[in-house]
Amino acid sequence: MKKITNIGVFTSGGDAPGMNAAIRAVVRTAIYENIQVTGIYRGYQGMIEADFVDMNRRSVSSIIQKGGTVLKSARCLEFKTKEGRQQAYNNIKTHGIDALVAIGGDGTFTGADLFSKEFDIPVMCIPGTIDNDLYGSDYTLGYDTANNTVIEAIDKIRDTASSHSRVFFVEVMGRDSGCIALNAGVGGGAEAILMPEVDSGITELFGELELAESRNKSSMIVIIAEGDQNGGAYNVAKIVKDKFDHLDIKVSILGHLQRGGSPSSFDRVLATRMGFKAVKELMAGNSRATVGLRGTAIVTTPLEEALSRKEFKLDEELLAIANIMNK
Ligand code: ATP
Repeated sequence: MKKITNIGVFTSGGDAPGMNAAIRAVVRTAIYENIQVTGIYRGYQGMIEADFVDMNRRSVSSIIQKGGTVLKSARCLEFKTKEGRQQAYNNIKTHGIDALVAIGGDGTFTGADLFSKEFDIPVMCIPGTIDNDLYGSDYTLGYDTANNTVIEAIDKIRDTASSHSRVFFVEVMGRDSGCIALNAGVGGGAEAILMPEVDSGITELFGELELAESRNKSSMIVIIAEGDQNGGAYNVAKIVKDKFDHLDIKVSILGHLQRGGSPSSFDRVLATRMGFKAVKELMAGNSRATVGLRGTAIVTTPLEEALSRKEFKLDEELLAIANIMNK
């Protein structure tokens, strides 16, 4: 096994709170182990353009509490071409980088897997996305923080909803996954939750609205994941308005504010554990894998497995509980 001397770390795809804490953990663990660290700016784009910075312990001071990513992120089409990846490899070789830690979502993992196979370079991935839609980890970095952000927004919206007897449709992130909608919906006490995975959502919503009316309930919060099968909050609002014309309906799209903000305690600790594990696994000769949290343990899953499998992350028990809380 070749000894690793210089780890290149980068963030790629959509940013997520906790990415900085992961970068910090990678840098500090590697330096503790006498391994150099090179920061690669803007993910694969920075690799192709040789946008590198040598990092030391101090380079990651005071970033654990910051949202976003100090190494910046980018989507890079050129890396999908053989020529692009060859250029990236030439640059990292020239710089002496002999292993990589990639922090991002499934696109980032796909690129890392391909690159590692083509050029025989060890790589470990860290799942960073607020959507919690990756196989191999119960939780991805940023998901907990995003839930807290959404709950805070729901609390504020409820103040105005109840003052004016309104029904609010709040759209949260999640193109394919209802994880944020379900968790933040339960945590925020939403009266109904619509998710991409549940196709009976709109019928159930009609039932909830009728029930609320029969109880003279004057305000309601309905959480809708952006990927819901009815086409998002504006569409749902239109469908409901057609049936319940007398309701005062408002729509609030939370959008990108869900991706920002200081990471929660949970995300900071998870990121630190994952960054540490990624370096240790590379040192032990593990490669082409993602680190992840399973139960309370940090484990690794081969990228080939993580990329080929999908896991249903929506907690069925929580789903059932949510339905009871609304009744
Ligand atoms: P998010 O979950 O936030 O979308 P992501 O990591 O999935 O994050 P992508 O934009 O899909 O975000 O992927 C990040 C980058 O990974 C791409 O811009 C591209 O450079 C690289 N990448 C994605 N798919 C491939 C692929 N098939 N081959 C090579 N590189 C890829």
